[in-house]
Amino acid sequence: MEKKKERKTIALIAHDNKKGEIIGWAVRNRDKLMQYNLCGTGTTAKLVAEATGLDIKRFLSGPLGGDQQIGARVAEGEVDMIVFFWDPLQAQPHDPDVKALMRIAAVYDIPIATNRATADCLIK
Ligand code: PGA
Repeated sequence: MEKKKERKTIALIAHDNKKGEIIGWAVRNRDKLMQYNLCGTGTTAKLVAEATGLDIKRFLSGPLGGDQQIGARVAEGEVDMIVFFWDPLQAQPHDPDVKALMRIAAVYDIPIATNRATADCLIK
């Protein structure tokens, strides 16, 4: 029988040039984010947790496998939404992992916000 989760889970990820943006977004939406289980890649989760006081499960840093860990949780049905502010202006060493995460989100039909406008729509 499928386990019923009480709270949905949101994963937070931002590339370095987008960290400020995701922190600002999380601070503005703190009251809504409080209603979810939160997780994120290492540095993003740490910075957002410090700025908001929210409890956020930390995976590894993105370049060290954090994106893949979150992708695995998506495949296991443990992540319900992803906020992923990726940097369209800078190449990333872990680009294959970034693509893999987007792919697995599409496979499992998980909403994935890749910019502030979309994240605002999803959280509303
Ligand atoms: P980070 O990883 O939160 O550990 O910086 C994000 C990423 O680059 O995927």
